[in-house]
Amino acid sequence: MYDIRELYQQLIIDHSKNPKNFTVLKDANRSAEGDNPLCGDKVTIYLKLEDDVIRDISFQGSGCAISKASTSIMTTRLKGKTVEEFQTFFNIFHQMVTTGKTDSIVLGKLAALSGVHQYPVRVKCATLAWHTVKNALEDGAKKIATTE
Ligand code: ZN
Repeated sequence: MYDIRELYQQLIIDHSKNPKNFTVLKDANRSAEGDNPLCGDKVTIYLKLEDDVIRDISFQGSGCAISKASTSIMTTRLKGKTVEEFQTFFNIFHQMVTTGKTDSIVLGKLAALSGVHQYPVRVKCATLAWHTVKNALEDGAKKIATTE
């Protein structure tokens, strides 16, 4: 029998060392930047949104293991999901990192971050990327247009 907490620890270390979707998405039509000055985490999210479906998602940035792992696992979870599904994930994830209440069936590997609720200062590290995706979906299209 393995310890579930150790397994979660390992998952966070793996994703922070070798993050998934850690690249600039060339054909992104949405983008937003997020910043957590409390810890020094910075993230840029790139989205390819088509008919309310997140066709592709990637990120760039630097930060602590929690923020990087959270962003990395999040991108693997959101690919192919609708904006509505993102909202559901966001709400469940936010509840998990603030209260510890998990719905691991919905969240999958994101449940690895459930321990964060014990460290209130790290909650912002875990949710930074999520808030950034929300911003990208809400007004990220304008930003892309102005950078070209
Ligand atoms: Zn952090």
